[in-house]
Amino acid sequence: MSQEKVLECLKCGVKLAMGNVEVTYLNNKFPIQLPKCPKCGLVFIPEELATGKMLEVEKALEDK
Ligand SMILES: [Zn+2]
Repeated sequence: MSQEKVLECLKCGVKLAMGNVEVTYLNNKFPIQLPKCPKCGLVFIPEELATGKMLEVEKALEDK
């Protein structure tokens, strides 16, 4: 089993490259690095980002 997981776009079959993606959350925009398809622009959002990490972002905002 390979430990390295290469992400590919399901549509294009090309490897996703890290790129700046703007995420909107609670009416605020966050520039973050996410794997993105260089061909169609599809962004892979990890499950931990869709769930837990966003709570951390929310917390960080409240601290300011
Ligand atoms: Zn694609």
